This record gives sequence, C-alpha cells and structure tokens, in this order.
Amino acid sequence: MKDIGDSGTKINTSPTLKTTCPELACIWENMQGGKGLITTFVCDLFKSFEDPNDWKNVIDIRAGNLSTDDKKIFGKTDIQDGIVYIEIDKSNCGGQDKLEMFETLQHELIHAKIFNDCMNLFGFDGKTQNSLNYLNVFKKLVVSEYGTNTTTDQHKLMLDKYLNEMVNNLIEITGKGEYDDYIGLVLNGFPEDILWQCGYSPNYAVDKFHNYNVYKHNNSDIFNKLNTVCP
Ligand SMILES: [Zn+2]
Repeated sequence: MKDIGDSGTKINTSPTLKTTCPELACIWENMQGGKGLITTFVCDLFKSFEDPNDWKNVIDIRAGNLSTDDKKIFGKTDIQDGIVYIEIDKSNCGGQDKLEMFETLQHELIHAKIFNDCMNLFGFDGKTQNSLNYLNVFKKLVVSEYGTNTTTDQHKLMLDKYLNEMVNNLIEITGKGEYDDYIGLVLNGFPEDILWQCGYSPNYAVDKFHNYNVYKHNNSDIFNKLNTVCP
C-alpha cells in the first residue's frame, strides 16, 4: 500500500480522537500501516482514495456525542466543502470490544469511499450531501454499480455491495472464525429500515448479533491481534 500521507488522500486525525478514544485512534492509525492491522479490504479502500486526478481529498476523523438515550449511533460520515468528516461516538471509546471499534471504522471508511468516489469519478462538487448535485451524482454512481437506479441511500449500496467484504475482513483481522460468526456484528451497524429493504428482518440481525456475542465469549483469542497492536 502506498503511503497515503504522500499521495491522494490526506488524513487528519483530530487530537480529540487520540485523547478521548486512544484505543480506537490506535486501531485507526494501524489500519493504515504501522504495526500491521492492514487487511486486503481496508488496503483496497485506502487505495481507492488515491485520486486519479491527483486531487488532495481530506478525511478528518474525530470523536463526538452522537448517541441519544433511545438511539445508539456508532459513527457518522459527512462531507463539507470537499472534506470528508468521520465522527465516532464517544460510547465507542470505553475499552469495550475492539473488533466492534474496527468494524465501526471500516463501516465509516466505506461511507468515505462513496463520497470520495462521487467526487473523484462522478463530478460531485463535494460541498454538501444535502444538494441536488450530490443526489444526481450518487444516482450515477449507483447506476454504474448496479446498472440500474435502485436507491438514494448509501447504506443500501453498502449492504448490497460490501457486506461480504466487511464480514470477510473481520475473519481476516481476527485470523479465525466463519462468516456466520461475524455477520451479526456487521448488520448491527445498519438501521432497521435498510435491513428490511435489503431482505434482512431486524430479528434476524438481532439473532446474528447474539451469535457474535456468544462466539466472542467462547473465543477470546479473536482479539489477540488487536490487543497486541493496541493494548
Ligand atoms: Zn453508516
């Protein structure tokens, strides 16, 4: 993988992520290289940020308060004036499941990729996603991915197109387990209405998330690599 600091996308990691969320910040840094949380899928995602027209896209990542009392939000990705902002909810910062942190980061990275592809490949001006320009460009991207216009929602595109790679990426980073052990952790990051639209009942997602929790309880060595690199 190329040094993404030198070409293509520049990544600003906010000091608030490092102080509020040191473990997650460590995982984030080492997903880009360093001590080796690089996986095939994440490497491909970062490569896709290397813009063919040599624009300097920027991803800014920080920690914030996103969740409310009745709704847990892991992270959020937005775009403003050409800069992709990833915000990670502070509830992710309490030394809990590091695979969940890793999963949140891969999920937000795919949003970032979608925004960057819209800018680099399809002529999105990058100003805001609340614009006709964005909606038109996103339609073009979906048509190029599906050959038909099926959605205006990034989550649907993500679930239809990247679910397998997201699950397999968790198998790669843990070095163990099977598809069924991790699919619940990935589905847990999607809103209910999108699960329905993609043919997964929310009960199915809850069952699979329960599977994951049982699996990790019985296989604590799945965290070995993450714990070694980011204690
Ligand atoms: Zn999302």
